[in-house]
Amino acid sequence: MEHATEPNVDVVVVGAGQAGLSAAYHLRRAGYRPERDFVVLDRAPRAGGAWQYRWPSLTFGRVHGVHDLPGMPLRGAAPERPSSEVVGEYFEEYELAHDLRVHRPVAVTAVREGDGDRLRVETSEGVWNTWALINATGTWARPFLPRYPGQRSFRGRQTHTAWYRGPQDFAGERVIVVGGGTSAVQHLLEIAEVATATTWVTRRPPVFLEGPFDERRGREAVARVAERVRVGLPPQSVVSVTGLPMTEAMQRARERGVLRRLPMFDRITPDGAVWADGHTVAADSILWATGFRADLGHLSPLGLREHGGGIRLDGTRAVRDPRVHLLGYGPSASTVGANRFGRTAVNELREWLLVPSA
Ligand SMILES: Cc1cc2nc3c(=O)[nH]c(=O)nc-3n(C[C@H](O)[C@H](O)[C@H](O)COP(=O)(O)OP(=O)(O)OC[C@H]3O[C@@H](n4cnc5c(N)ncnc54)[C@H](O)[C@@H]3O)c2cc1C
Repeated sequence: MEHATEPNVDVVVVGAGQAGLSAAYHLRRAGYRPERDFVVLDRAPRAGGAWQYRWPSLTFGRVHGVHDLPGMPLRGAAPERPSSEVVGEYFEEYELAHDLRVHRPVAVTAVREGDGDRLRVETSEGVWNTWALINATGTWARPFLPRYPGQRSFRGRQTHTAWYRGPQDFAGERVIVVGGGTSAVQHLLEIAEVATATTWVTRRPPVFLEGPFDERRGREAVARVAERVRVGLPPQSVVSVTGLPMTEAMQRARERGVLRRLPMFDRITPDGAVWADGHTVAADSILWATGFRADLGHLSPLGLREHGGGIRLDGTRAVRDPRVHLLGYGPSASTVGANRFGRTAVNELREWLLVPSA
């Protein structure tokens, strides 16, 4: 039941990371007015999307490249500054420059069928009713930790990329790093400098890419993910489609043996891990760099998921509900993709909103 005090808008954008801000920018350019025609809601306390939570040693010079938001380049960022600060400041300036008026902290708790074909967006700060929704909630709040036999018996510490604060927490320890992506490699490179021993464990042999991760490689990776979400499968991990671009620091670490990798262990013991052939490694800490999952629980009342577990998309539009667009999911889950698909989502929604409902 709709109440007189509940605001009505054309579009609610959930999330003010790269994807949500890109969508908000294109809404503005298309003539939608903030507060009256659209709102952007974000759960985080500050500007910066998930970047605000990234560990201090992930300096701007170490990230693969944060693509500029549309209409305002990021210039002159010092490579030694934490990317959390650089990107936080950039997003804050961007929101002001484009008058995007992000509401924060506002957590969207559920999106459900509302009155007269509208969607009802329930949040920590009340309800918004809307004709359309652009969901850009990212993955940061859903770290993924796989389960292995014996895991609970481990006497040491288990942690995840999401809670990593820097190598200093592992000084003098024997550390097992699990995961085949860029985060795992960055953790290893840092931790190897201060730990007594590091062991790298991945499910599949890592594929190192010599040469730059250029536009052609980027396009090929995006096409592979797009094909999966087109048929309703969950998107794959980033590294399984991009490989690991080799940097100079990685080259040096490889020469020192830091990037020598073992297959997954069979089980965890109170003191470390054991492989099927009886090989054991003692550990004080296990760091799970095993990625994140899309943060979409608030959309579950809409029943968008397929049997394959994913949400089928046509471009950015949910096939099961044309009022809903997903950004930062599947092929748009990179700072480049978030930008590009922000425009796609707004163009499509604009046409769709012009058609009167039957
Ligand atoms: C360690 C690490 C390094 C990375 N480095 C790079 C890189 O160098 N280059 C690159 O292209 N990509 C990189 N990525 C991937 C990167 O995260 C994405 O490309 C991009 O930043 C994600 O943007 P987003 O807008 O989709 O999500 P986010 O930045 O996660 O933004 C989502 C926003 O939604 C909000 N939100 C979530 N749920 C709700 C809710 N229920 N209600 C209200 N608000 C909500 C959050 O508060 C957040 O502000 C990296 C990822 C990780 C983990």
